[in-house]
Amino acid sequence: MDCIFCKIIAGIIPSEGVYKDDKVIAFRDISPMAPVHILIIPREHIPTLNDITDQQAPLVAHMVQVAKQLAKQQGIATKGYRIVINTGPQGGQLVQHLHMHLLGGRELSGGLG
Ligand code: 5GP
Ligand code: ZN
Repeated sequence: MDCIFCKIIAGIIPSEGVYKDDKVIAFRDISPMAPVHILIIPREHIPTLNDITDQQAPLVAHMVQVAKQLAKQQGIATKGYRIVINTGPQGGQLVQHLHMHLLGGRELSGGLG
């Protein structure tokens, strides 16, 4: 297993978990870009959003629902937050295991980079 996030799921690499269920886990980003910076990942190793099949679309919807729920729990739901799925080299994806960033707790720039 040479995937960092699969190792986090397996507990081989420690992480600060904030949520888990049978389909996804969520943990704090190791180098946070905002006061709240959480990664939501599927337990299944899916490299990128490009690999999501029609059958797996509900999994992505579930990730969004978990992000929404965590935003509320972290106290950033009303002021606002951002969810991001970086995809591929030009999309800035560094870890090849699908993940959704949940960012909030500060004013995020209006731009998209
Ligand atoms: P990407 O650029 O692929 O969208 O984001 C990968 C994210 O994973 C980065 O924000 C990075 O800080 C985070 N990350 C990389 N390795 C680890 C790790 O071992 N533990 C945690 N908690 N986050 C990690
Ligand atoms: Zn993986």
